Amino acid sequence: MTSSRYDVAIVGGGVAGLAAASALAETGKRVVVLEARGELGGRATAFVDRETGELVDNGQHVLFGCYHETFAFLRRVGAEANVFVQPALEVPYLDANARRSVLKCPRLPSPLHLLGAILRWDALPWADRLRALRLAAPLLRARRNSMDAAPPHETVSQWLTRYGQQGRLREWLWEPLAVAALNQSPSEAAAAPFVRVLALMFGAERTDASLVLPATPLHQMYAWPARRYIESRGGLVRTHALARIRVAGDRVAGIDVRGEPVDAMAVIAAVPWFALPQLVTGDTTLLDRTLDAASRMPAKPIVTVNLWYDRPVMDDGFVGLPGRAMQWVFDKRQAFGERASHLSLVSSGADALVGMETDALVALAAREVAGAIPGARDAQLRHGTVIREKRATFSLAPGAPPRPPVETPVNGLFLAGDWIDTGLPGTIESAALAGHRAARTLSRAFSSPEP
Ligand SMILES: Cc1cc2nc3c(=O)[nH]c(=O)nc-3n(C[C@H](O)[C@H](O)[C@H](O)COP(=O)(O)OP(=O)(O)OC[C@H]3O[C@@H](n4cnc5c(N)ncnc54)[C@H](O)[C@@H]3O)c2cc1C
Repeated sequence: MTSSRYDVAIVGGGVAGLAAASALAETGKRVVVLEARGELGGRATAFVDRETGELVDNGQHVLFGCYHETFAFLRRVGAEANVFVQPALEVPYLDANARRSVLKCPRLPSPLHLLGAILRWDALPWADRLRALRLAAPLLRARRNSMDAAPPHETVSQWLTRYGQQGRLREWLWEPLAVAALNQSPSEAAAAPFVRVLALMFGAERTDASLVLPATPLHQMYAWPARRYIESRGGLVRTHALARIRVAGDRVAGIDVRGEPVDAMAVIAAVPWFALPQLVTGDTTLLDRTLDAASRMPAKPIVTVNLWYDRPVMDDGFVGLPGRAMQWVFDKRQAFGERASHLSLVSSGADALVGMETDALVALAAREVAGAIPGARDAQLRHGTVIREKRATFSLAPGAPPRPPVETPVNGLFLAGDWIDTGLPGTIESAALAGHRAARTLSRAFSSPEP
């Protein structure tokens, strides 16, 4: 039983919870983070592979240079050096005949560098390259006003067709980018969040379009530094702390961890949409609409296959595999150095793959690697594992239940998480933005300095 009094309790030790907690700690608030699992990081974490002893991410995460809220969070907790930022966007691809091509930004100011990259990309016929110019006007519009991105009923496919994007440009660039950013088929997902991501990539800085890769296993990249930061400012981060929030009408009646009370003046629920209905109990009438929307939000899966070969097989740190079931392959040896020796293959929007047997998925991934990377054909596959994240993100299909704001009608209760109404898809950036927004809104409500 703890007698400590905290200013704010934050339930959930993922990106959103740790971004909120560190922002509040920065302004002098005494915070306690309550995380149900034994490790921090939530959907962006890592664990030990039993056979090799290596740390394995629960799924490769790729960030963009335009993830400004994420960078603010990483800077605050001293973790900026744990990611590698490309000096300018550079994406190698291998086609079905193992022919390599590179989408690479020339030395031009943004957004001309992106257009220049497409115009110089020799994997595309000239007619396709020129079609990209038709997106300049809608993206500049969305950059000026993110609410002007696309009508709510329009899907990514419909939006791409409306602006004449077809052929290889669409199959190799826009659709894989949409699947990676939205984790959903372009024919299903709403266009607006995708257009917002594109508009951010076409931002003022050249590096806004750059890919950003974690240089350490995910929990070490941000969660451990965040924990150190919070605890160095008098806060506490608890794992194995499954929390409940008791609500009585318009106020929080109590917070507890397995029955043990936690004394805090306010609480941020930074849990995923599917965990919120179990987190809040009591008279939740004022939250009914939010809880109902949360329980109706469909989830979208990501499948990751990790392969250990008897030797290094890749020259690039990562490669796009257009037209394959696994859209990207990453060489974790190149990302993590001596600590890793596996390849990670990612299939986003993986509804068709998530039900497959492990052996079949490993065989499929190994076939796709051998088809694309000649160096893998003579190499021996030593070990393969599959991670199925069935609830990796929420569906962005038009007509999906509304995403809530950070404020709730219950005094002292705030929400955070990637599924909050940030306008962005379910990403690290949406989670960091929601965490920061919750911290700011809470501070304003309690008339204390804002982060
Ligand atoms: C395989 C995979 C690949 C992805 N790839 C990318 C990518 O490339 N780029 C990108 O930007 N995003 C990617 N994402 C999405 C990204 O991981 C999420 O958007 C982000 O991590 C969500 O953070 P969060 O803090 O909102 O939620 P979570 O990470 O889900 O954190 C919530 C935490 O709350 C805890 N919790 C729940 N209930 C309770 C309770 N009652 N008490 C205490 N704790 C509780 C959970 O255990 C969890 O740790 C990917 C996700 C997955 C799964």
